[in-house]
Amino acid sequence: MSTATANRLEVVKLLSGGQFVPAKSSRRSPVFNPSTGETIAECPMCTADETREVIAAAQEAFPAWSQTPVVERARVMFRYVSLLEKNVDNLAKTVSREHGKTHSEAIASVRRGIEMVEYACGLPTLTMGDTVHNLASDVDCETYWHPLGVCAGITPYNFPLMVPLWMFPIAITAGNTFVLKPSEKVPMSAMRLGELLAEAGLPPGVFNIVHGDKECVDVLLTDPRVQAVSFVGSTPIARYIWETGTKHGKRVQANGGAKNHIIVMPDADLDRSVAALQSAAFGCSGQRCMAGSLAVAVGKAADPVVEALVAGASRMRVGPTDRPSDADMGPVTTKVHLESILSNIDKGVKEGAKLARDGRSVRVAETPNGFYLGPTIFDHVDPAMHVGATELFGPVLSVARVRDLEEAIALTNRSPFGNGAVIYTRDGHAAREFKHRAGAGMIGINVGVPAPMAMFAFTGAKQSFFGDLHIQGKEGILFYTQQKMIMSRWNPMAEGGEFVTTRG
Ligand code: NAD
Repeated sequence: MSTATANRLEVVKLLSGGQFVPAKSSRRSPVFNPSTGETIAECPMCTADETREVIAAAQEAFPAWSQTPVVERARVMFRYVSLLEKNVDNLAKTVSREHGKTHSEAIASVRRGIEMVEYACGLPTLTMGDTVHNLASDVDCETYWHPLGVCAGITPYNFPLMVPLWMFPIAITAGNTFVLKPSEKVPMSAMRLGELLAEAGLPPGVFNIVHGDKECVDVLLTDPRVQAVSFVGSTPIARYIWETGTKHGKRVQANGGAKNHIIVMPDADLDRSVAALQSAAFGCSGQRCMAGSLAVAVGKAADPVVEALVAGASRMRVGPTDRPSDADMGPVTTKVHLESILSNIDKGVKEGAKLARDGRSVRVAETPNGFYLGPTIFDHVDPAMHVGATELFGPVLSVARVRDLEEAIALTNRSPFGNGAVIYTRDGHAAREFKHRAGAGMIGINVGVPAPMAMFAFTGAKQSFFGDLHIQGKEGILFYTQQKMIMSRWNPMAEGGEFVTTRG
């Protein structure tokens, strides 16, 4: 990049104590428009000291915010919902521009995010404690749900706006203050979230944004002022976050990577299951933690499923998403990631998987420098192969062929990951066996991507989740609150004002 170009680039700001401020650090990371390959901004890599200053702003805001009546905190969220609704289209455009999702995918991701804020609006009711009258003589018992203090969120690049919304609406409405560290690859959507929160009337310092990499994250994991850390990203980093954060006495919930299996039984509705598989595998260019990345075709389902998948994938239009276009699939988000997917496809070919559809030849004439890869399908994949076992996080679907349901369940359960698993069938018994015996935390039955809505926890298992309380739903609220039990005894007063110690 020439100096002249670098000078023109926007450097993304921090949000600290209600102010959008430039970073002091001169270390930067490029933000791309993946549709064209151009660098559109730079994300600062904050120093440890800068990160501590942002934590201090969140700490300072905590006493007043935690004392603000919960209904008033919820009212900020009601206003936030309406602002987000008003801005759905331009928020989606920001997501598409820095991430590469198609407009409809970006809109869907904003809507899923808004659902989290709607859920947070219910916190005055959802955080009501329990009471028992007269637990013993003159003794009542009650519980209250108190906030923890400063909470931090560290988010991945694949849902720049939705994943941050999995975290802070609940945390803030419960009375905590928050420091978000969005992915350095897609920081601009998070900044829009911060702007709209301020417009909704959130007091300064309650929600803050810091940018950076390990240097910044390590402060969030070790600073004693941070009480809880939510993380979403790849498995190796999720494990590191959980180990380091818990070692420093924090609550940690850390969602990791995945390799989601989609079983197609011979009795399944072929058209519906193939359409859902295609969308699960290639939606968001395969960059979803719930992407269907290994199709498991049972018995005679295999040939027709592969044939229909190849035909469907060949009809998909790949193109730019930063402008009005008819693209069904956009680019992947960075060139580095594109190259890693391409090298994984090479590995699959070398391992002997059959390339039933090769997306590497895709060319987009309008924007030839974008990070494009067409839908790619491997058939006859041995699940022990690299392409069968590893999360590729791109538009690459592997198909394994098995004899029966038993083999399909055993294969699913051999995966070290446990995010999603899906079965397509018309057989109620097969569905029942699968839902109880498959080891993934989120199961779909005739549903492409079983990603839960806000009121349900995102129940990843095995190496797809580290921690105890999941993100979203009731578990999400428990994570950001501390239960306090109060037991009180009030004996009757005797005449003249003295306490009577027994009821006699
Ligand atoms: P990533 O792990 O590379 O990065 C996630 C976050 O961690 C980013 O904010 C990044 O800056 C930070 N980070 C990266 N390296 C770090 C380090 N060494 N120390 C401290 N912090 C570090 O993940 P990604 O590539 O942004 O996202 C894709 C991954 O996220 C995929 O594996 C996907 O499956 C997973 N994901 C999981 C879920 C889920 O709910 N299970 C949801 C979305 C994405």
